[in-house]
Amino acid sequence: MKLKDGVTYMHEHITIDLSGVKKDLDCRLDVMEDTIEEFKALKKLGVENLVDVTNRGMGRNIDFALKVQEESGINVIFSTGYYKEPFLPEEVYKLSEKELSKIMVEEILYGIDGSGVKAEIIGEVGTSKDTVTPIEKKVIIAAAMTHIETGKPITTHTTLGTSGLEQINIFNEYKIDLDKVIIGHVDLSGDIDYILRLIDKGVYVAFDTIGKINYMSEERRLEMLKEICNRGLSERVVMSVDITRKSHLKHRGGIGYSYLLNSFIPYIKENGISEQNINNMLRNNPQKIFK
Ligand SMILES: [Zn+2]
Repeated sequence: MKLKDGVTYMHEHITIDLSGVKKDLDCRLDVMEDTIEEFKALKKLGVENLVDVTNRGMGRNIDFALKVQEESGINVIFSTGYYKEPFLPEEVYKLSEKELSKIMVEEILYGIDGSGVKAEIIGEVGTSKDTVTPIEKKVIIAAAMTHIETGKPITTHTTLGTSGLEQINIFNEYKIDLDKVIIGHVDLSGDIDYILRLIDKGVYVAFDTIGKINYMSEERRLEMLKEICNRGLSERVVMSVDITRKSHLKHRGGIGYSYLLNSFIPYIKENGISEQNINNMLRNNPQKIFK
């Protein structure tokens, strides 16, 4: 698959519904009008592609996302897979790795839920804080098997950045091409040595919770990005804001999807991150991942 030329947001949710488990209706993101308006603004800012990492059991809504794609002109990339405990649907507990992989492969080759829309990436497949539960391991293995069969990239969720190395260990057991793996939410670790170790293994890392300052300050994100760029490693980073709640939307007082381009990028530019490095993270690296 080829992306359009332009900025790519690598880890977003056009819709998501974790409200059942979280017992909080704010976690059901399904506001069509507001989302379309935000996406139109994104498009004006140069965003041409957006990866929707909402998958099975997370409230993925193909019709909704297609409508947003059509109204905004932003190319949406769809995902297959399963998230993490306790958000996994019943089938994950019942089926084997092989059977779970078969479902993912079918969504890649033939389309999602009869829509004809094919998944182009496996993810977000995730792990819990400081641990990989047996069921999460099963999903990661199924993702690895799916990658082997289809060649599609894998994008992960880490909880507060933890267990990225453990995820890589599982991928290595299956001899996955780590150049097709993105370890997610690493900015939340706040630990540059750890992030450099991940990069050293050969994966991409995602600074994809930008704007979530209740978890991590932007100053710290900037510091870590400087370290990475100073070592010539901006070729291994992708970016996003990971909008997951109604209250993250602009109309509802949140930062909105455009925060990355309107606020964070100007901020890091002013603080010495070069245009070339920014282009790598926002434009060139996603192109390589999907090539
Ligand atoms: Zn996530």
